[in-house]
Amino acid sequence: PVTSASAPQAASMARDPIPARARMLQQLMAEGIQDPLVLRAMGAVDRHHFVDGALVPQAYEDTALPIGLGQTISKPSVVARMTELLLQGGLRGADGRLGRVLDIGTGCGYQAVVLAQLATEVYSIERLRELHEKARANLRPLRLATVHLILGDGMVGFAKGAPYAGIIAAAGGEAVPEAWIDQLAHGGRIVAPVAVAGGQQALMVIDKSHQGVQQTILEAVNFVPLKSGLA
Ligand code: SAH
Repeated sequence: PVTSASAPQAASMARDPIPARARMLQQLMAEGIQDPLVLRAMGAVDRHHFVDGALVPQAYEDTALPIGLGQTISKPSVVARMTELLLQGGLRGADGRLGRVLDIGTGCGYQAVVLAQLATEVYSIERLRELHEKARANLRPLRLATVHLILGDGMVGFAKGAPYAGIIAAAGGEAVPEAWIDQLAHGGRIVAPVAVAGGQQALMVIDKSHQGVQQTILEAVNFVPLKSGLA
């Protein structure tokens, strides 16, 4: 049952035809996701369309799930957290939406479709052909003209779409590639996992302005490795 009936997202949750998704939104709010635009975006995307049949019953649980080739769809709380960080620090138009964003590591395409709710254009790049094709198939029925799926090495970014209002990565390396910072607009933000001491990984936020580049390390995370080259 929805307790805070005054919140607009609570009202829309109550009408959610998918109870598991409504529970997911409640859990996201309980974990501190506050931005109504992010909650609305998470509520608008059918996560169960992005996982294999046997995993559909788990699609709205707060857990990462396998998508093939040893890769995973990130858990909803991490997708929401990173999306919120990107939206709050990225470059936004008068309508509150982000401009062009770059999504590194398309995987099954879920994050790209969440971003499509919040940005004018989404460029999403994947290095594994099989997953790139899977994302294409997942997105086809959605007919999202603003999402561009690219087969390529995201380590070098995607210069054709630059400068980006925001860049988000679902794979982590030793450092954030210089190309991403170069392709980020002034006033834009990068949200990406990066290696920290002790073999751990943490979320890094990079804000770029005319004054320079500011890096902030946040909580520990656990993403697949960022790898170079196509496969
Ligand atoms: N955002 C995805 C998460 C997929 S997991 C989703 O919503 O499903 C991260 C993905 O990053 C994997 O598919 C992996 O193949 C990809 N990846 C790793 N290194 C990459 C690189 N250099 N360029 C593009 N994709 C990369």
